[in-house]
Amino acid sequence: MPQTTKAIVIHAARDLRIEDVPIADIGAGEVRLRLATGGVCGSDLHYYNHGGFGAIRLREPMVLGHEVSAYVTELGLGVDGLQVGQLVAVSPSRPCGNCRYCAEGLQNQCLNMRFYGSAMPFPHIQGAFRQDLVAMASQCVPADGLTAGEAAMAEPLAVTLHATRRAGDILGKRVLVTGCGPIGALSILSARRAGAAEIVATDLSDFTLALAKTVGADRTINTAKDPEALAEYSANKGYFDVLFECSGAAPALSAGIMAMRPRGVIMQLGLGGDMSLPMMAITAKELDLRGSFRFHSEFATGVGLMQKGLIDVKPLITHTLPLDRAVEAFTVASDRAVAMKAQIAF
Ligand SMILES: [Zn+2]
Ligand SMILES: [Zn+2]
Repeated sequence: MPQTTKAIVIHAARDLRIEDVPIADIGAGEVRLRLATGGVCGSDLHYYNHGGFGAIRLREPMVLGHEVSAYVTELGLGVDGLQVGQLVAVSPSRPCGNCRYCAEGLQNQCLNMRFYGSAMPFPHIQGAFRQDLVAMASQCVPADGLTAGEAAMAEPLAVTLHATRRAGDILGKRVLVTGCGPIGALSILSARRAGAAEIVATDLSDFTLALAKTVGADRTINTAKDPEALAEYSANKGYFDVLFECSGAAPALSAGIMAMRPRGVIMQLGLGGDMSLPMMAITAKELDLRGSFRFHSEFATGVGLMQKGLIDVKPLITHTLPLDRAVEAFTVASDRAVAMKAQIAF
């Protein structure tokens, strides 16, 4: 067997290399995987375009990637429930299982989280964009019946299912989604699955808004072309019950808050750094402002929903490029006029 495998390694902003990295040993409870597909995520793009985000900076080379599907090639000791050759969605979430938050079932808040491809801790947590990957069997959810591309959407889908869970009862509610990148578009799918009666989506790109409509938005608004369109929802103290704020941009959040009806719920998913807030409106309309970060059990839930045909993510996969064109995949994924989700075929 070869001793190295190809990986996508970020060295600094705009310095992305396909390199040979050492193959890992397989231990008990682990599986060896041959990567099938990897999706380029907004956080990967931050590392690629800016070398990090906010206070989180790259301080050493890091294998990128956390949205992956793979084929099982070898089972470690004591692994059952998986088969060699099987397609699996690989959860990048690796909580410790021992800290106080893991004990409370809040694995996404784990104190010792080793989430793939994260420069938050140092040494950085290496990611999953590598042809040969050893993972814990518990990270692998069988994805029989799905394409490798769909299975690689399980991670961002799980992010939005977690937010949908945090939002509480959505049945019959009016939902506003601000920011229609992959997370916004998947929020539309998740909110609709949870029973939303009406979904309005905003963005600055006609391309992403067209896809938002394809996946179920009732109305889309381009706030660059039509900055006043949301204002009509602000009459009589507002219209929407739930806001999925997926842009991380303060103007989108502010405009969204003005369109919320009293006692509505604001789900903040976009990671835009510190934003200023119209606090008076939040107070006077008694709005709930809730964060949402990553996921845990929702990963397997999302795979199941896709397998049953209850959520269809396929329209959102706009680009699939081979590994040797990985840099191009990052460039195209950064262009919101032409790309929703760009994936790399390993
Ligand atoms: Zn992601
Ligand atoms: Zn933990």
